[in-house]
Amino acid sequence: MFSLKDQVAVVTGAASGIGRGIAEVLHGAGAQVVIADIDVERGRATADELGAVFSQVDVTSRNACEEMVTGIVDRFGRLDVMCSNTGIFPQAALDTMTDEQWDRTLEVNLKGTFLIVQAALRPMRKQKYGRIVITSSITGSVTGFPGWSHYGASKAGQQGFMRSAALECARDGVTINAVLPGNVLTDGLKAQGDTYLRNMAAGVPMNALGQPRDIGHAACFLASPEARYITGQTLIVDGGQILPESVEALA
Ligand code: NAD
Repeated sequence: MFSLKDQVAVVTGAASGIGRGIAEVLHGAGAQVVIADIDVERGRATADELGAVFSQVDVTSRNACEEMVTGIVDRFGRLDVMCSNTGIFPQAALDTMTDEQWDRTLEVNLKGTFLIVQAALRPMRKQKYGRIVITSSITGSVTGFPGWSHYGASKAGQQGFMRSAALECARDGVTINAVLPGNVLTDGLKAQGDTYLRNMAAGVPMNALGQPRDIGHAACFLASPEARYITGQTLIVDGGQILPESVEALA
């Protein structure tokens, strides 16, 4: 079940963190994986370790997204799976947030998703098959956190984008869904500091932060041929984090 044998899968932001976890699971399922990242050194190293291919891309650049997809189709003949995973989550209090901070977060997280999905759709529509999986978040659509109003807007925005996009490709064999991680131990999360990590883990009913591969397994299911009748949906992977009504529920 959930074999991706002979399929070509791209994961953006896969040099590290959740993207790498997704790439590892897709590779394990038999896919030819392309590690797509802005970070050349780390991306190459990850690709070498996995036996995958590296492609440098800045997802905020239309040209870069289109060139990467064209290059992959030229090389492998098809593109079956696109995991739009790149994201940034800098903290900025609303009182002092600058236009630049707002714009950059929306540019990478939301516009980057639009550009990479649009590029992937061309070959997928032509071949009448495709699986697009967006890494969104519980933050924004389900929960909030001080300092992440711009990030929350970008992550909720990805889900709004996804629902209309799913309708537009529903008759072309292309599905588009989102995984919504809770708190997953990555470099990006570690940058929030030890106190954040400790408090977050304490707020998770399973009493631990998630691992990148936890998101990878969910993404692999949505990327599989078997998930053909699921589109425009969200899958929360958070160790039960959003469930407690209050801290009393965790006592
Ligand atoms: P991370 O910072 O550990 O990794 C992000 C990767 O994206 C890096 O390899 C980086 O080089 C790459 N990247 C950054 N800007 C790019 C660009 N413009 N073009 C191409 N690549 C770029 O982050 P992570 O924690 O692994 O998060 C990955 C995704 O998961 C993000 O979309 C994030 O919003 C989402 N997410 C993470 C968590 C979490 O707890 N870690 C929770 C919910 C959602």
